[in-house]
Amino acid sequence: MITFLNGRPGGPPCGLPVALGAAAGAAAAAGAAYWLGMSSYSQAFGPFPYRGETSEKVVALTFDDGPNEPFTSRLAGILKSRDVRATFFQVGKAVLRYPDVTRRLVDEGHVIGCHGFTHDFPVYLRRRTIAPDVRRGMDALETVGLRPALYRPPWLLRVPATDSVIAAEGMRTISGEFCHPLEVFQPRASMIANGVLSKVRPGSIIICHDGWDGHEGNRASTVAAAEIVIDRLRDQGYRFVTVDEMLKIPAYQ
Ligand SMILES: [Zn+2]
Repeated sequence: MITFLNGRPGGPPCGLPVALGAAAGAAAAAGAAYWLGMSSYSQAFGPFPYRGETSEKVVALTFDDGPNEPFTSRLAGILKSRDVRATFFQVGKAVLRYPDVTRRLVDEGHVIGCHGFTHDFPVYLRRRTIAPDVRRGMDALETVGLRPALYRPPWLLRVPATDSVIAAEGMRTISGEFCHPLEVFQPRASMIANGVLSKVRPGSIIICHDGWDGHEGNRASTVAAAEIVIDRLRDQGYRFVTVDEMLKIPAYQ
């Protein structure tokens, strides 16, 4: 399987020291595991839509890990000023921290999806920890009157159990393409914006972060990048839709 995924014969070349060969093997295994369980594009564990099938110039901007103030509210202001609707995959513990921000997003026409409760990496590796975390995430969203039908796994991490847990909660797992590989370090807004602009095509679902794994953290560059991206894409004739519209599926249960 590793050989297949890497597209080249497995095993180290002859003469390579054994330790180095083992390290290379471990790296290949890690790469394959990453590709299977964390890539935007892996369909290994069931349908994981990362784009819509359309030739229309439509794009779905998505924002994960919030609400996170003041950045989520600042972003909401930008979206409102430009009459753009987006999709927010929110972390339950952050929703409990800022329920009014989530309510505002809903009032202004945005769609809220579930992004778990803790966002702690090991939680999403096993059924017995995924299931209660997702249930807590849903409980948090229900405190603001929402029962989403869209779920994005934290870290995009999926294991064989993920989809059945999510289906049991009445949701589908949603992927997307990351806005910029260095977004977590908050480089200049123009750099993040160029990352988005270089990959958008009709049907794109773009993943940005208005939060930081459900913790508080500076997302000023992402928010400023969103403003640039919206204006440029609109100049190019793009329309902005929510994920449910893009994929023609329900947003809520
Ligand atoms: Zn996340």
